[in-house]
Amino acid sequence: MMIEDPEFNDGIRAKIKEERVNVEWAVKEVADHYISLFSNIEDEYLKERALDLKDVSKRLLRILSGVEGTDLRSIKEESIIVAEDLIPSDTAQMNKEKAIGIVTELGGKTSHTSIMARTLEIPAIAGVKDITQIAKNGDFMIIDGGEGLILLNPSEEEIKKYEKKKKEYEAFKMKTREMKGKESISKDGIKVEIAANIGTPKDVDKIIENDGEGVGLYRTEFLYMDSDKLPTEEEQFESYKIVAERLEGKPVIIRTLDVGGDKDIPYLNLPEEMNPFLGYRAIRLCLDRVDIFETQLRALLRASAFGNIKIMFPMISSIKEIRDAKKILEEVKEELRKENIPFNEDIEVGIMVEIPSVAVHSDIFAKEVDFFSIGTNDLIQYTLAVDRGNQDISYLYNQYHPAVLKLIKMTIENGHKAGIWVGMCGEAAGDEKLIPLLLAMGLDEFSMNPSSILKARYIINNISKKEIEPMLDEILSLPTAEDVEKFIDENIIS
Ligand code: PEP
Ligand code: MG
Repeated sequence: MMIEDPEFNDGIRAKIKEERVNVEWAVKEVADHYISLFSNIEDEYLKERALDLKDVSKRLLRILSGVEGTDLRSIKEESIIVAEDLIPSDTAQMNKEKAIGIVTELGGKTSHTSIMARTLEIPAIAGVKDITQIAKNGDFMIIDGGEGLILLNPSEEEIKKYEKKKKEYEAFKMKTREMKGKESISKDGIKVEIAANIGTPKDVDKIIENDGEGVGLYRTEFLYMDSDKLPTEEEQFESYKIVAERLEGKPVIIRTLDVGGDKDIPYLNLPEEMNPFLGYRAIRLCLDRVDIFETQLRALLRASAFGNIKIMFPMISSIKEIRDAKKILEEVKEELRKENIPFNEDIEVGIMVEIPSVAVHSDIFAKEVDFFSIGTNDLIQYTLAVDRGNQDISYLYNQYHPAVLKLIKMTIENGHKAGIWVGMCGEAAGDEKLIPLLLAMGLDEFSMNPSSILKARYIINNISKKEIEPMLDEILSLPTAEDVEKFIDENIIS
């Protein structure tokens, strides 16, 4: 498609005509111009498209000048390819039987080579500085794509360890694939729901591919962030409707705008704050900017006529916020009734439990809503007073902290006592070591990255709630997060 692009071709023609240079030079000049344009774009994804252009121009030049290139099709032995960079056509032509791993100095998670390697399920590590200088042809190398680890000329013992790890991984993957179409039910018959976290309607493909049972969190802020103005009611309605329709009646929990903290929307001109995570954000902003909130609620309610949509408010810290938000929701409903616009009259309304005071007081909060969804990403940061984005103190941010687990357990129990269901949409819901504890605590819904769904289902199907339940008291009284993790490793995950 790139070599058919009229702008690209006209540019080359013009150069030849006007500057009387040869065709190879013209191709190089024009391609270099576009490569530098793409390289200067801030968006990581678009920036990496410069590599695609480099690839196309290199191939054009190779053909024009009649030079033979290195051909990854002809790899004879099983090999790990180590390169400064791999252009997508190299990766596409690679002999997949023989190329069993890829290591590159350049590129990142969203470079096409990484994307293709992931699709082909070839272990790959990108961005390894100087590896082409360090590794030599014929060296023995182990790469662990999951951990981002390279072992060069490993010992016999290391080889054995990784052969075992590889076998276990393959066996585990086979087993998780078998989970497609199955129920998420524990050995002792406790059925839970495993749903997906999404950011855009496009992510629904991944839910279907991984057999997700619904959407546990639709982060609508991306709709606002991917634009240079507020999305209109119509634009929002379309996005929510598509997701609801494609999920065919499965639950779709849509979270109202959760902006602020680390998520900025430049055109809202949010004030500079000393403590943005504790400041003017999410529901606080929506209750202040009622115009923004009402538009979103109208779009959400209208879309609710096309599927099983539930509404969730983020960053709730007081009962008054819930009541105020619900009051506005009722007003918007009334408006729609007057306009004869259909919506689900019984739409469920829930809140994120991500502030410690709400977890502690969850018996009271539970009386105000239809469901809770525990947001551990923020709950951990507020409980432990550790900024979730600060690398320097990231060693303090820990999902196994007993204080966090106590809050989770308390929230689930209080929710159940009040007769509402309780889910979790923070990253902890997909954590393989925590899943057994969460099941034992009675969590009803686990919402996670779509690619973790089948693994989570496998774990649930292989544990028994009543075997883990008696261990909970002991786990929650352990002194540290490290003790909790060790306990799980030794007694639960085998
Ligand atoms: C959370 O805080 O756990 C959560 C799911 O929301 P976000 O990561 O968008 O803050
Ligand atoms: Mg949050």
